[in-house]
Amino acid sequence: MMLSRLHAGQRLALPALLALIGLLAALPLVVKGNYALGLVNLGLVSLVVVIGLNFITGYCGQINFAQAAFWGIGAYVTAALTLKGLSFWLALPLSALATAACTLLLGLPTLRLRAYYLAMATIAFGEIVQLVLVHWEPVTGGTSGLRGVPGIQVFGYELKSHAAQYEFLLLCGGLALALSLRVRHSKLGRAMIALRDSEIGAEVMGVDTVRVKMLAFMLSSVYAGVAGSLYVGTINYVSPDLFSNAQAVLFFVMLVIGGTGSAVGAVLGTITLTVLPEALRFLKEWYLVLYGVGVIVMITFLPGGLVSLGARWRRGSDGRPADGTAPPAAPAARAPSAPARPATGALLSARELTQRFGGLVALDAISVDIAPGTVHAVIGPNGSGKTTFLNVLSGAYVAQSGSVRLAGVELIGRRPSAIARAGLSRTFQNIRLYKSLTVLENVMVGAACHSPLSVLAVLLRSRRQRDEEAALRATAQSALVLVGLDHLAGRPAGSLAYAQQRRLEIARAVAAGPKLLLLDEPAAGMNPQEAADLVTTIRTLRDTGITVVFVEHNVRMVMSVSDRVTVFDFGRKIAEGTPAEVQADPRVIEAYLGRPRALRPVEPDAADKLQAARA
Ligand code: ADP
Ligand code: MG
Repeated sequence: MMLSRLHAGQRLALPALLALIGLLAALPLVVKGNYALGLVNLGLVSLVVVIGLNFITGYCGQINFAQAAFWGIGAYVTAALTLKGLSFWLALPLSALATAACTLLLGLPTLRLRAYYLAMATIAFGEIVQLVLVHWEPVTGGTSGLRGVPGIQVFGYELKSHAAQYEFLLLCGGLALALSLRVRHSKLGRAMIALRDSEIGAEVMGVDTVRVKMLAFMLSSVYAGVAGSLYVGTINYVSPDLFSNAQAVLFFVMLVIGGTGSAVGAVLGTITLTVLPEALRFLKEWYLVLYGVGVIVMITFLPGGLVSLGARWRRGSDGRPADGTAPPAAPAARAPSAPARPATGALLSARELTQRFGGLVALDAISVDIAPGTVHAVIGPNGSGKTTFLNVLSGAYVAQSGSVRLAGVELIGRRPSAIARAGLSRTFQNIRLYKSLTVLENVMVGAACHSPLSVLAVLLRSRRQRDEEAALRATAQSALVLVGLDHLAGRPAGSLAYAQQRRLEIARAVAAGPKLLLLDEPAAGMNPQEAADLVTTIRTLRDTGITVVFVEHNVRMVMSVSDRVTVFDFGRKIAEGTPAEVQADPRVIEAYLGRPRALRPVEPDAADKLQAARA
């Protein structure tokens, strides 16, 4: 199961894989000499560190310079414990635990903030660890380090020779890669990439971005800690200089050269930067210059890293590995069922909502009731507060005053991910897809809105986990059928045409199984036929029990599909009623025709400001 998912879901034939493993295992027959094999072994240890780094930096896009420090912590904890007589196999999990504890300490205050904070905190952490290693002599041995660390025993056999250590490290490296690919192709991996591509886009689909970043950071540092144990168990010696920030930068460069966001890239980058310095050694003092220039050239001309070479190769077939193109496991199109709700009374009731931006009152004591099972349009001139209203409902903004209740539950003050799990789903006026995930994976992130996250379940890939994955796939598939995008399931979302991206956002939101669905200008950029199809989709959604609120400029569409219409102007509600009532309202006519609207400023990119505001 695990093996068949090698290389970003591409199914390598099992025989080819076995042959590769055989070749790798036979390496000591070719690479002779302790120096060369020792280097290969160090490369394998680095590999574990860099595959780990890929979780937080590659998938989540958070810059982490603490990887060498975590590596060092793992090495020192194992060295100190095994020197005291503890078995390596007990020291290993304890080392992982020690790194995990440091991760919490470092991650909790910084991961709520934006990316730079983690980078700065991890650099500082690296310096601190270095100082502790040098100065805490009784435990760390100071600058001379710890010597004579016992080797690793496997079934009573000590891994003494470089070749034996190589086979063992190869196994560990393979396991690290396989587990990392498991994570990548799970809801956890998709959530990581989703938050990298659009943090707010992930939050509103129920992804608790702080928690997912924390888990990714934890995985990263535990990988490094384990690598540290493996290192000291095979080298039998530690000293502080190896775990410097310079080494952390090297790990970082390995990942970038290989291609961030891909475990296979991490492998390629590590191999390249382990072998290259050796290959260039004959150049003596010039080698560092050439090495530096080489790295710069590679980053410049191959920004996607070495792994992107493979993608270039395949381009023309369909660009993307086959993983996204799911088998049509889905039953016939079936919209996710809406949970039970009271038959009478409002599903959502907003009271006296006020949102100010400096002096500007974007929402001025807005009260709106949304009846269950209806399609409710919000219209108004540009800048009248429609998007702001949706942002407040979905938790992207926190209103200064007022209340929003969804099926009786107060939403104000909750994070967008919690609001999503309470049953509210949305799309954005300016599309917030996860561009580097496939179309199907985008929708699967939505589908996973209500499913609990457990790293252990993901790593073990239990029966239940696999069943759930299949169910998510089926839900996503039927949501794609609903919007007519099922034939593009395997394509990267970023490659879709604009109108298709809008439909994809709707599918993603629907897959979350919401009670209430908010659509912000869903027909923008669509041609009349596409807009007509959208009307059909909205009706279908309502018929399956989803309440729909949508913002739209297309008057024809509003009049044809809405049960009720609310009209905003300058942040105030100026009218509300059936489409016919609203159309005849003199205030509405004045708002639309009475003033020169063309002079209003272009709408700001609300979600970007949000990120600034929340940070
Ligand atoms: P609509 O969607 O009706 O076109 P918006 O809700 O986007 O209008 O904007 C309402 C008003 O609030 C506009 O004047 C806009 O410039 C302002 N606004 C919206 N978001 C922000 C923000 N994050 N910071 C400052 N002003 C904002
Ligand atoms: Mg708007």
